[in-house]
Amino acid sequence: MIPPDKKTSHDAHVSQSKRSRKPTKAGSLVKKQLFGTNGVRGVIGKDMTPELVLRIGEALGTMRQGCIAVGRDTRTSGDTLAGAIKAGLLATGCDVIDCGILPTPALQYIVREHYDGGAMITASHNPPEYNGVKIIEPDGTEMGDDETIQLEQLILGRTFPVKSWDRVGRETAAPHAVDEYVHAIASQFPNRPGDAMTVAVDPGSGPACQTTPRILSAMGCRVLTINGIMDGTFPGRLPEPSPDGLSGLSALVIASGAAFGVAHDGDADRAVFVDETGQFVEENQEFALVAQYICQRSKGILVTPVSTSQMVEMVANKAGCDVVYTPVGSIYVARKMRELIAAKKTVVFGGEGNGGLIFPDHQFCRDGGMTAAMMVAILASAQKPLSSLVRGLPRRIMKKEKISTQNGSHIIRQLSKKYSHEQVDRTDGLKIRRGNTWALVRASGTEPLIRIMVDAEDITQADEFFRELKGHVASILTHPDK
Ligand code: MG
Repeated sequence: MIPPDKKTSHDAHVSQSKRSRKPTKAGSLVKKQLFGTNGVRGVIGKDMTPELVLRIGEALGTMRQGCIAVGRDTRTSGDTLAGAIKAGLLATGCDVIDCGILPTPALQYIVREHYDGGAMITASHNPPEYNGVKIIEPDGTEMGDDETIQLEQLILGRTFPVKSWDRVGRETAAPHAVDEYVHAIASQFPNRPGDAMTVAVDPGSGPACQTTPRILSAMGCRVLTINGIMDGTFPGRLPEPSPDGLSGLSALVIASGAAFGVAHDGDADRAVFVDETGQFVEENQEFALVAQYICQRSKGILVTPVSTSQMVEMVANKAGCDVVYTPVGSIYVARKMRELIAAKKTVVFGGEGNGGLIFPDHQFCRDGGMTAAMMVAILASAQKPLSSLVRGLPRRIMKKEKISTQNGSHIIRQLSKKYSHEQVDRTDGLKIRRGNTWALVRASGTEPLIRIMVDAEDITQADEFFRELKGHVASILTHPDK
């Protein structure tokens, strides 16, 4: 799970995601300075200001022409920043469709269906004082690295040709956008698999207050909500749906006899679950359960980052599907899925082990509403309690640790040499695979540290591999030239 962002203000433009060095189309290495893999974020009034967002709007309007949809989550600063981005877009000649408050995946769906691009004002799972912008491409995916670097160069260069009075854009409201998104998901389950099922929903006072309860009701469920009124002060819990913030949801599930509880992050592109006993379902288990359901019904490829638990590959392989790995970040998963499909491969599913799941028959982005709907279909089909389905998954132990160092890339290079005789994957950092056990070492893009993860069948295996790796890292730190 991604923890709430605790970065200091000077880090905040980059949010929780990494800065990346990426060759541009011109071939030179240019570093992203404002945007991370999930947009630009910061603390309102410090490093996230209306001026910055106005410049983002002007730059986007200069780069993209046509009609740009703008949405926002429920944060108190949402109106201010939405106003700023709309001003920038209109001034540079784009028409603006104001979709109001809606989940990020709802805006992505609407953009893909109707518009030339989008801008979502959101800070996702970050605390209430944060806000930010995610840029949506015409195909509904988040903007990739090359385009983001072009956008940043425009923002930092401040070369915006503002249009004359007769060529500025026009603004229209699209209050129906939410309805269209709800219908798009609910209509995929015409047999009403939720009939006779009670579900508890915790939208966390975010935009999913308007969508997930309606989606599940349309599928036949009896829906109860907690934190179900939109409120940018997030009075019930923080936007990150962490297990300790979901005690109210668990209590509601137990008291109501619900089949499960579902909670979203602040922009509802992720969904996490508690089972019928109120127990939190770890996100890799959630991913594996949905993967199992989909892979048993359709054969093809599942796409996920290298950091996802091996249990996902195990259930996919058992059901006859293959797994393709990407760097960490949902945008890389979504783009790889599209790339494989363009190469005439069959891609059945994708996502991350943090509750961000991508259903290619629906759209190429994480979608919390669709994930909640899919859980209804899974339980209706299994006719077993969620806790029992979780117990049926392969048992895995995942160990994680951060080590402070300025020499992350050097350590990974040295480790790659040490492990060159083993099965290694350099998709993102260094992943060493030993049968169904693996270890991953990645350098942080934003902080002076490396992250070590080990995924194993039992704690003994995990501890052993972990000790071995940490020993090598300590030796490299002590003798950096060896
Ligand atoms: Mg999010």
